[in-house]
Amino acid sequence: MEAAAQFFVESPDVVYGPEAIEAQYEYRTTRVSREGGVLKVHPTSTRFTFRTARQVPRLGVMLVGWGGNNGSTLTAAVLANRLRLSWPTRSGRKEANYYGSLTQAGTVSLGLDAEGQEVFVPFSALLPMVAPNDLVFDGWDISSLNLAEAMRRAKVLDWGLQEQLWPHMEALRPRPSVYIPEFIAANQSARADNLIPGSRAQQLEQIRRDIRDFRSSAGLDKIIVLWTANTERFCEVIPGLNDTAENLLHTIELGLEVSPSTLFAVASILEGCAFLNGSPQNTLVPGALELAWQRRVFVGGDDFKSGQTKVKSVLVDFLIGSGLKTMSIVSYNHLGNNDGENLSAPLQFRSKEVSKSNVVDDMVQSNPVLYAPGEEPDHCVVIKYVPYVGDSKRALDEYTSELMLGGTNTLVLHNTCEDSLLAAPIMLDLALLTELCQRVSFCTDADPEPQTFHPVLSLLSFLFKAPLVPPGSPVVNALFRQRSCIENILRACVGLPPQNHMLLEHKME
Ligand code: NAD
Repeated sequence: MEAAAQFFVESPDVVYGPEAIEAQYEYRTTRVSREGGVLKVHPTSTRFTFRTARQVPRLGVMLVGWGGNNGSTLTAAVLANRLRLSWPTRSGRKEANYYGSLTQAGTVSLGLDAEGQEVFVPFSALLPMVAPNDLVFDGWDISSLNLAEAMRRAKVLDWGLQEQLWPHMEALRPRPSVYIPEFIAANQSARADNLIPGSRAQQLEQIRRDIRDFRSSAGLDKIIVLWTANTERFCEVIPGLNDTAENLLHTIELGLEVSPSTLFAVASILEGCAFLNGSPQNTLVPGALELAWQRRVFVGGDDFKSGQTKVKSVLVDFLIGSGLKTMSIVSYNHLGNNDGENLSAPLQFRSKEVSKSNVVDDMVQSNPVLYAPGEEPDHCVVIKYVPYVGDSKRALDEYTSELMLGGTNTLVLHNTCEDSLLAAPIMLDLALLTELCQRVSFCTDADPEPQTFHPVLSLLSFLFKAPLVPPGSPVVNALFRQRSCIENILRACVGLPPQNHMLLEHKME
């Protein structure tokens, strides 16, 4: 592979202007109709013009829960890469890298060369993207520890790396945040020593001021806000309270029930900053979604898709996609970090259980040969808090599927790894892809008015356990369908056809 390769598409349909890349693109798909019990499939074709601004902004990322395991690990990872750090471990010297990041460590195939071999480039080479080493971080936490102390508390990184990072992280201090005890587990109260006082409306104003302050003091063009704080309990959606943008803003004004995460989402949207929710709770209540729609600000969620769920969305896709009838999925986890302690409380566990449970729905529904209407596999999720294992989460899964002629197949999987080292590169991808999407606009021959993607940015589904999608849009959980979606949309932006894996060139005589 040609690492960091630059490429240009030579085609009359693609124009590399000084400010933007413009590509003419034929979107070929199908529409299906049912006529008298017969399915009729109509191929369709729509001509799109994609425009991607080439100027990459100076991007700030504000993390809510900055001092947590994920927040401190992501900050450390970017600093370690920027400073090109290396450190000794018992298995040799390690160097900073971005393994686990789709954009930084994943690749795409550009096609075949003269020898008939595929040519791969890094995913990040597809379009101009912010370089992760150039990101500027800030954020909030209810715990006042500076980022160096937070990194030590997290116990994720090797000691030799922590020592080198310490002087660079010591000066980074989370801004005070909004603490509403009933939303997170009672076991979190001891760390809540860094709080924004006042009414909900005053707290909202303070968050907005923080965003503006970061923008001007760090000289940023853009900010993206990412919730990586503790999992909250679900918030009831109540007509009159949070069902419309107007009602939600009124509720904040009156100091009625609103979760801290929704308050952050509202503040970000009002400041024109994309808001992404890395935890499972329903932060983006209908009122927040409507506000995002009104302000044309991107929102994405919910819950980083990092470990067990990611595997599940591959394995069940493989099983059902191969024609095996998966009937039971039992997932057990134990972890010993602060996230695990918070999830040991029933209401917070419930949020996680829901987000983990719907992840195979699309695969089951895609196969009416195997599953009768309404039929679905048993699916059980257990999470236990075991302090000793710290951030090194254990996930044990058992998948039982029916084979032909009455046989069964049981797959058992044991997955161990540092949770935050899986989550941090996902957070990075979320910020970089969201920012890129903000620079893409498109129009069709039928509707020449340029538009941007829908504010509910479903292109990010690959990175979320319970992907938010625009109303009426299918939810896709199957991992490689999600990956193809990102890849093919980015390819469309440079006028390349979707990756079809046919390799017909090699199937001819
Ligand atoms: P963590 O407990 O180490 O960090 C969360 C941080 O949020 C803590 O520092 C806490 O003080 C802070 N916090 C709590 N409420 C806050 C508020 N209202 N405002 C500001 N800060 C607040 O947890 P983590 O391991 O970093 O995970 C963070 C979130 O990401 C959790 O909700 C977790 O479920 C979710 N998540 C993690 C992974 C993973 O692989 N690590 C995967 C999916 C989702």
